[in-house]
Amino acid sequence: MKLSKYNNQVPYGEKTLLYNAYTDKFILVEPLINDLFTAAKNEGPEALQEIHPTFFEVLKNRGFIVDHQTDELELVKLKRAQVDLEDDTEYKLIINPTMNCNFKCWYCYESHIKDSKMTAETIESLKKHISSVVGTMENLKTFHISWFGGEPFLFYEKIIKPVSEYAVAILSARNITLSTTYTTNGFLIKETMIEEFHKSRVRNFQITLDGNKEMHDTVRFVNSKKGSYDDIVANVLLLCRNELNVSLRINYTKSNLTNLDDIIEHLGPLEPEFRKYMTITFHKVWQETDKNLGEKVSELNQKFRTAGFRSIYGGVINNVRRSCYADRRYQATINYNGDVFKCTARNFSAESKEGSLNTNGVIEWNHKREERLDVKFKNKPCLECPILPICNGGCSQKALENAGKDYCVYNFDNNLKAAVILNKYDFLMNPPLV
Ligand code: SF4
Ligand code: SF4
Repeated sequence: MKLSKYNNQVPYGEKTLLYNAYTDKFILVEPLINDLFTAAKNEGPEALQEIHPTFFEVLKNRGFIVDHQTDELELVKLKRAQVDLEDDTEYKLIINPTMNCNFKCWYCYESHIKDSKMTAETIESLKKHISSVVGTMENLKTFHISWFGGEPFLFYEKIIKPVSEYAVAILSARNITLSTTYTTNGFLIKETMIEEFHKSRVRNFQITLDGNKEMHDTVRFVNSKKGSYDDIVANVLLLCRNELNVSLRINYTKSNLTNLDDIIEHLGPLEPEFRKYMTITFHKVWQETDKNLGEKVSELNQKFRTAGFRSIYGGVINNVRRSCYADRRYQATINYNGDVFKCTARNFSAESKEGSLNTNGVIEWNHKREERLDVKFKNKPCLECPILPICNGGCSQKALENAGKDYCVYNFDNNLKAAVILNKYDFLMNPPLV
């Protein structure tokens, strides 16, 4: 028997939180028990078995103590391979019908490309791609389509609708579940689309607000007299009332944080029975450099919860079992011009593409995709890190951007790593309301 290399001890008030990152199990212990645990690190778990057999059993059952011959790093590698490389029961297709947008937000990381639009020829190749995936992936159970961009609803009738209808027909014939998501500014959604959303099994809309009404309308506006906040909020309520899930991202900066609770009032008309369809999350825009806003955002999150909304602050990472789609083999991001990528958080330039969609609907991948799929477990500090099974060096994009040097997504700061664990525990103990 030996203690797991993925055990962590984090102070929690007067007590200590023991956390095993491989089994994802917690034990909150009194100081005396924590001392026994610390002693077991030096003297071996067998000593603990004699002194406190019950605690020993709990540790064993929750993976804090493992067999001597267990190669835990190998287990993490196997898990990662199962999820990212071998799981052929799901295919995730992200589609950018355009790189254009009806707004021009100052922080947007994508450069809008006016007149960019998927051509009829590329739409045909896209349909053939769906058909070819369905025809070749024998174990396929779920096909995810995510509409991204640019603003996808600029081309709802001309691109989204025909592709969705095609996907519904071909997938239902093979008994494969379709699941659709949209990342949209929400402005162009219409009530007449609701029925089609249900037909194409829309699982989620990700819609963003840039602050309260006043702030949002200075960032996202139609013209000098018309903002977009009221229409977007109305559409969020419309979707929820039609039992369609919305992830409402509220972007914050130091300057807009103080007035964000105004939004509670505007979401207030949503009847309690529909609130479970909305999840509110808070995101610092990447240009904001102030690192000390966490407490204020946490208070704000509490205000939304007290008002009866399901809100979450601080993501709970799980980069092995729930890795980013871009880390997975059976995923592609197809741009309006047929260029193929994996990650959606960087630019879609021709130089960084990882493949091309040909006219037969087949993706011709270049060397970049295999480099991405092979980039994990190369960073030495991660191999010795006690939170490797939940962090794994961040996503594949982080790993690629740091290839060849030792790095840590938490700057090798043990306090930040401890905060990840505490955040997980708090999330477990205080799940979002509704
Ligand atoms: S930056 Fe990382 S997490 Fe974000 S989409 Fe790209 S690979 Fe995924
Ligand atoms: S990036 Fe840092 S926290 Fe994450 S696994 Fe590697 S060393 Fe650990």
